[in-house]
Amino acid sequence: MVTMDTCYTCAQERLFDRLPIRERIAHDDHWRVAHATGTSLEAWLILMPRRHVTTIAELSDAEAGLLGTWQVRLSRALHAVTGCEKTYVVQFAEAPGFAHVHFHVVPRSPDHPYDRRGPAIFSYLGCPPDKQVSPRRMDLLGAQLRSSLGPH
Ligand SMILES: [Zn+2]
Repeated sequence: MVTMDTCYTCAQERLFDRLPIRERIAHDDHWRVAHATGTSLEAWLILMPRRHVTTIAELSDAEAGLLGTWQVRLSRALHAVTGCEKTYVVQFAEAPGFAHVHFHVVPRSPDHPYDRRGPAIFSYLGCPPDKQVSPRRMDLLGAQLRSSLGPH
């Protein structure tokens, strides 16, 4: 079982002040936004609560109250920065070590291959290192998205 002590997301949260842009593109008291790692799809975002929560039902009313706003704000920023046609919002938290609730907010471009739309978008995660978006590129996209988001 993943606890707060063994959780990747919580370990990152403890380093909050030292995280690169790609790991804290935006945040408030309850939520943090990072670029997904291990993906070849640019601007794949992860929205996660800042405390250890493993089911959506455990979110507090305060966290829940901000969730929809974050999903829509991030989607607007993704439209502006990437030119995507729509965004996908998905939450499973089933991968080993990643039980901490996290919402994938994924830009789907107008020319995205038809056979990799919908759930097949996850074929862009866990790709070989030479295909992954580089940390430098993630930081650049993160800065553009942060700028597009503007102040709360
Ligand atoms: Zn956690």
